[in-house]
Parts: sequence; structure tokens; C-alpha cells
Amino acid sequence: MKIFGELQIKAAALAVAMALCTPVSALAGPGDGLITLETGQTRPAGTATPSEMTADWGIVRAAEKYSYSDMEQDIWELQRQYGNLMTVNVIGTSCDGRNLYEIVVGNQSAGKHVMIQGAIHGREYMTPLLVMKQLETALAQYYTGNWDGVSYSQLFSQAAVHFLPMVNPDGVSISQFGLQGINSPQLRQTIQEAYDKDLAEGRTVMSIDRYLTYWKANGRGVDLNSNFDAGWENLNDLGHPSYAGYRGTGACSEPESMALVNLANKHQWSLILNYHSMGEVIYWDYEGNKVQPQSKELADLVAGITGYRLIDSSGGGGYKDWVQIKEGPIPSVTVEVGSVSCPMPVSEWSRVWPQNETVWAAVLSWAVKQP
Ligand SMILES: [Zn+2]
Repeated sequence: MKIFGELQIKAAALAVAMALCTPVSALAGPGDGLITLETGQTRPAGTATPSEMTADWGIVRAAEKYSYSDMEQDIWELQRQYGNLMTVNVIGTSCDGRNLYEIVVGNQSAGKHVMIQGAIHGREYMTPLLVMKQLETALAQYYTGNWDGVSYSQLFSQAAVHFLPMVNPDGVSISQFGLQGINSPQLRQTIQEAYDKDLAEGRTVMSIDRYLTYWKANGRGVDLNSNFDAGWENLNDLGHPSYAGYRGTGACSEPESMALVNLANKHQWSLILNYHSMGEVIYWDYEGNKVQPQSKELADLVAGITGYRLIDSSGGGGYKDWVQIKEGPIPSVTVEVGSVSCPMPVSEWSRVWPQNETVWAAVLSWAVKQP
């Protein structure tokens, strides 16, 4: 099991890098959360059967490196099987030319929208797998499942869920495949220069191959979750692209963050759930949060299912932070899955999945109940 000491990054730099995804190494276990079954009954967390724990069924399967092309293939497979239940949109293009996918399930005319997004940080590629498996679960159980006694099909008739499994596909590719994961020679050079500077400044002592596995940023070395217009000007300026912690040249300077801003302004969102890893904690607040009670309620709801611990505030510049303070604010939570550091071994999946299997249904139900 990897620990952060092994990263051999200087403590000060580590603090910057971790500011947005605080590692909580001394966390207790999965907690006393309850898992709610399809039937609406609950059972204690940790009592799932082995096949339930790994979701070893269907199209989306756990892999050591669940990649952009794995996800793309699975989206097309799901569309072939459940095409009448889902809409696939592309909300933008990454710096290296990858599609930013949005898969919508439910009634888009009902006026209520739920967003679940993953992998805004590259190395956190357990979260695309999680969001994709949640999507498949919603589709596979559309006519049979229920939450709290209300059938999924009934819930989906009153709201739409937008699944965004991988909002930073270049970052995921860099973390999984290194420089070979990037097509553009220019971006490869930017990434090489980020490494050279981080090495020169003592932010890393690793080989470039190892360094790239810890990549959180996008293809241009900008930490997307420090790139939003929420206290952006007060964030520490690294001054150059890096694997983590560089806020960029301006708020929303990146196509990936701009796509998320445009999407946030496009619909009437009931809530936005942001999946990160690691720590098994939930961030729900930010200074100036205009939807504080709703965000807290959501956090309590997700905590009750996952057993994760609430943390009051986060560092600014994040997508959650921005949607909570923007004009037409949106209740939002950031959920950090997993108990070991990133990139996470696939073995962690058997812990992450049972904790989060029904979270999408719970927040959909919450959205439907909102006035
Ligand atoms: Zn993160």
C-alpha cells in the first residue's frame, strides 16, 4: 500500500498539491453507513457479497487502468443496449483533442437536473469507473429498481441525471500512460518542461515516468479544480505548469473548465456532485456559499450512505466552490472516494463501489423532492 511519504515530494509542495484533495491517512474504516438495497431495505455497510462489491456484471468492468478509450467503448456499448434511455452529448474538447462526454438519463423537460462528474483530476481515475458503473446501474435497473419505495422510472420522469465520467481525459491519459498518452508534440513539450521545473524547484525528485503517474492537471499542466472563478486571484501562483497545484493564467483559462462553466449555466441544476479521490470525506461548503443549507443536507445524505466524514470548507478555485457562489447558485458536494493514495490500485474498487453504488439514486430522489 502506498503512503504519501513514498512520494518524496517536499512537505511544502505537498501541502500545495494536496490542498484540494486532502489525504486523510488516519481515517477510520467505512464507518457505520448503511447500504440501501434495490428493494429499499438497508443493510450495514461491509456486508455486500463479493460479486456485489466488485459489480462484476454488465458492460462496465473494473480495470487496473480504466482509460479514456475503455470509457468510450463502454459508452457505445451502453448506447447499443439502452439507447432509448440515454442521450450522449459532447460538451467540449480537451486540449489534446479528446471528447468531454455527458450522458443524460431521464426527463430533460421536467426542469430538474442533476450532475455527477468525475476525474477533474487526472490521477483520480477510479472515479470515471465509478460514474460509468453508476450510469450502467441506472440503465440496467431503470424499470426494476427503486429508492425509498419510489421506482427509478418514476424518479427519472421527474428529473434528468447528467453523468460526466471523465472531465479531464488528458490528465487521466497522462497519469495512466505518461507522455505516450498525449498526441500533441506541443503539449508533450509543456509536460516535459513542467517536470524540469518541478525537478529544479524540488517539487519532485522522481523520474519523469513516476512523476507523471501522479499527474492531476490537464494536458497543459493546469489544475482544473484551481481554475474556476471562486477566489482564484487569491490562490498561490506556482508560475508554471505542473503535475498539480497550478491555477493557470486566468480563471477558466482552460477548455475543460470552460465546458463545465457553460454546462452549469445551461440548465436548472438541482445539484452537482463532484467525485474525487482520496480520503473518504465530503467537502460541502465554501466562503460565500449561497446554498449552504441545501449543500449541507446533500452532504449529510451522501455521508449517511457512504459513511464518509464531512469537512467544512475547501481551498477555493474549485468547480464546487464556483457553482455555490455564482449567480443562480447550485447546491454541490465534493465526495472523495477511496482510502489509499492515487493512483489507486483496482483492489480499492471493492471498497469504493459498495459505498457509492446507490449515491446517484439518493441524490436524484433528493432533487425530485426539492420545491
Ligand atoms: Zn481531486
